[in-house]
Amino acid sequence: MLQTDLHIHTIMSGHAFSTLNEYAHEACRMEIEYIGITDHGPSMENAAHQGYFDMVDRVPNSINNVRILFGCETNITNISGDLDLDINLLSRLKLVIAGLHEKTSYTNSSEINNTSAMVNALKKNRIHILAHPYRSMFPVNIEELVYAACENNTLLEINKSLILYAVKHINELGSRDVIEKTREMIDLLQNRSRGFVINSDAHHTSEMGINDKELDSLIHYLDIKPEYIYNNNISALSRYITALDAGSKANE
Ligand SMILES: [Zn+2]
Ligand SMILES: [Zn+2]
Repeated sequence: MLQTDLHIHTIMSGHAFSTLNEYAHEACRMEIEYIGITDHGPSMENAAHQGYFDMVDRVPNSINNVRILFGCETNITNISGDLDLDINLLSRLKLVIAGLHEKTSYTNSSEINNTSAMVNALKKNRIHILAHPYRSMFPVNIEELVYAACENNTLLEINKSLILYAVKHINELGSRDVIEKTREMIDLLQNRSRGFVINSDAHHTSEMGINDKELDSLIHYLDIKPEYIYNNNISALSRYITALDAGSKANE
């Protein structure tokens, strides 16, 4: 089991099934040490409102010895790269993940526009992790994205749910693209000696974490060199996510 899982949805996302406490207790049982609680931002239908994220200071830093990074999976809302949370609020969150999503105000899906939306979002905002960088409904130019992520100190995510779904449904439209483009992303990162993070994108506790079997599959299908997986390398992760660093020092 990897030590961290930094992309998790609670019932506050409006379409997920477990609570913060349920994830924390399950993480303790599974020996996951750090979890990121990243509910969808307000522009997605039925997602959490701004006031929920505003309560960041009321969320415990740890439950059952599991460190909680309370943040958001914000939605990129247009090709200028705007996000759906106030910039001051974003700066208070421990973890900011961003991505393009359906059921939000973002509608354009040409590769050029999607790439602009993501690259501009990285330039304009402090985004710690870019979620599921390539999805078939939102094609992007991988080379431009890797360059922008490296320039702006943003981690690129390997989304366990997305990749394992594509592997299992390889004949579905878009599955091969997702695997090939993610492999291209990893190759470019590894050639630059840059790591990445694997997240579950869990919508229920049963989906949380990355176990040994899932990790072996991801390594196999995506040609991953294990030393570039940062999930167990807290000092590497904390170069991108400062809240992790502050927490480890406080714990020493
Ligand atoms: Zn997402
Ligand atoms: Zn998500």
